[in-house]
Amino acid sequence: MIRPAELIQRKRDGEELPDEELAELILGYARGEVPDYQMAAFCMAVFFRGLSARETFVLTEAMIRSGDTIDLGAELGRKVVDKHSTGGVGDKTSLAVGPIVAACGVPFGKMSGRGLGHTGGTLDKLESIPGYRTELRLDEFVGQVRDVGLAIIGQTGDLVPADKLLYGLRDVTATVDQLSLIAASIMSKKLAAGAQAIVLDVKVGDGAFMKTLEDARLLADAMLSLGRQAGREVVCLLTDMDQPLGSAVGNAVEVREALDTVRGRGPGDFTELVLDACARLLALSDLGVDAVEGRRRAEAAVADGSAEAAWRRWIEAQGGTTDEQALPSAPVERDVPAPAGGFVHRVGAIAVGNAAVHLGAGRRTKEDAIDHAVGVLCLAKRGDAVELGQPLARVLARDEAAAAAAATELLRAYEITAEPPQERPVLLETVD
Ligand code: URA
Repeated sequence: MIRPAELIQRKRDGEELPDEELAELILGYARGEVPDYQMAAFCMAVFFRGLSARETFVLTEAMIRSGDTIDLGAELGRKVVDKHSTGGVGDKTSLAVGPIVAACGVPFGKMSGRGLGHTGGTLDKLESIPGYRTELRLDEFVGQVRDVGLAIIGQTGDLVPADKLLYGLRDVTATVDQLSLIAASIMSKKLAAGAQAIVLDVKVGDGAFMKTLEDARLLADAMLSLGRQAGREVVCLLTDMDQPLGSAVGNAVEVREALDTVRGRGPGDFTELVLDACARLLALSDLGVDAVEGRRRAEAAVADGSAEAAWRRWIEAQGGTTDEQALPSAPVERDVPAPAGGFVHRVGAIAVGNAAVHLGAGRRTKEDAIDHAVGVLCLAKRGDAVELGQPLARVLARDEAAAAAAATELLRAYEITAEPPQERPVLLETVD
């Protein structure tokens, strides 16, 4: 029988905890035997003292053991690939990657999460499509991946319940942004969901948990190591989150932009990231191609319309409408004019994300309802030349007062300078 108070004290004092005792603490928490206040204290001790690689692995394993696991590969008789992002602003990558990869003949079955704080969640975006079912039974999910090649759903009830509890607790105890806790949280879900090969999009910058490239590399290394120990192939893309990804930030507005991208008409930075992630996923799949050929096939699927056809099959199979007119749109639109001419030096990702949340596109607490129609379009991005009065951004709001407040916030998110900023590509580094 473990004594949580003792383990908290030993971690607080910088000790490495024995495997069984650490695992039992996590499993005891998942069973409701360890109270929130002790687990909160433990997370804070971990925040300051960190976990060794060994402890991070034991934590990940224990979280997986707290619930069910799926072997999607065995169910389908194919090698299954998966992707995951550490979270950002305007990050609709899965919505575009799924249909492109499926159009290239690789099954893509993904469980996604909801947004919290200034970051959006794939599930919230998908729920802006009238009729779209995010809650499929496990057999329906597997059947759709087999028959349609693509399904994106919410995390099923009993997959890694320890993470669900722990993430909720970390969110309200200032212990989310700890490297080992993030690595274990993400990898426990990916490993439990059964993909043999995983592409991880590790966001770096203002709008990400990892603010610096050094920290992002450490997180990538920790997740690669967890994947390898579990016998999975993992590739990490370190990508820019100093400014929002693409133009759209919100829900329906991001669905529209993802569809535009699947049709080959998306914003440059977003398209680049999507095609790169697809190239890596295809290279890890059972197609037997390298990343260069993967990229060629992904581009071809966009150009010949097969990716858009895969989008339609997927959305319809999951009960949603493919009629774009049916997506919710905001009653009030308001442009934010540039206060000066020059170059866009910075578009603060957190500030834009928060403006979208204040409009109603995200949640302030887990119980909040989302307004799928509202959001922001970043019309000018870092490096763009702008003239005085040219629209920098467009606010999509429920009413005039909300639009005016968001416009003020957005103006503060933009920094205009006389000289162009240094170029920063969307893909910063690949770690494999
Ligand atoms: N995403 C997750 O799933 N978990 C974390 O801890 C952080 C980002």
